[in-house]
Amino acid sequence: MPPPCSRCASQRIINLETTRKLGTAVGALAGSLRGAYASLYSPGRLLVASTQFPLSRVATAVVAATTGGIAGATAGNQMIQSLFPPGEGTPWLCLGCGHAFRVID
Ligand SMILES: [Zn+2]
Repeated sequence: MPPPCSRCASQRIINLETTRKLGTAVGALAGSLRGAYASLYSPGRLLVASTQFPLSRVATAVVAATTGGIAGATAGNQMIQSLFPPGEGTPWLCLGCGHAFRVID
């Protein structure tokens, strides 16, 4: 059972630790898609490489997707991390009033 919000006593709170993992995964996915899309569809950028070796365009997209994924995951992680209140314990975020607080188990 999640604890009630320490400000408005709402039970609608989420675990920031879980949210951070989720944010990292979503950020990685978004970054990957953006990286792959950008390298596959950016005009001219890979023209020389792709005439020499057609698969290199795909390879570059995979590299871009991986790079974008890592960058996205880092960005997602940092974004959620900035919501974390300082201190020890389990971090929670109230969806009712936006108050972030920690509960020591
Ligand atoms: Zn609240």
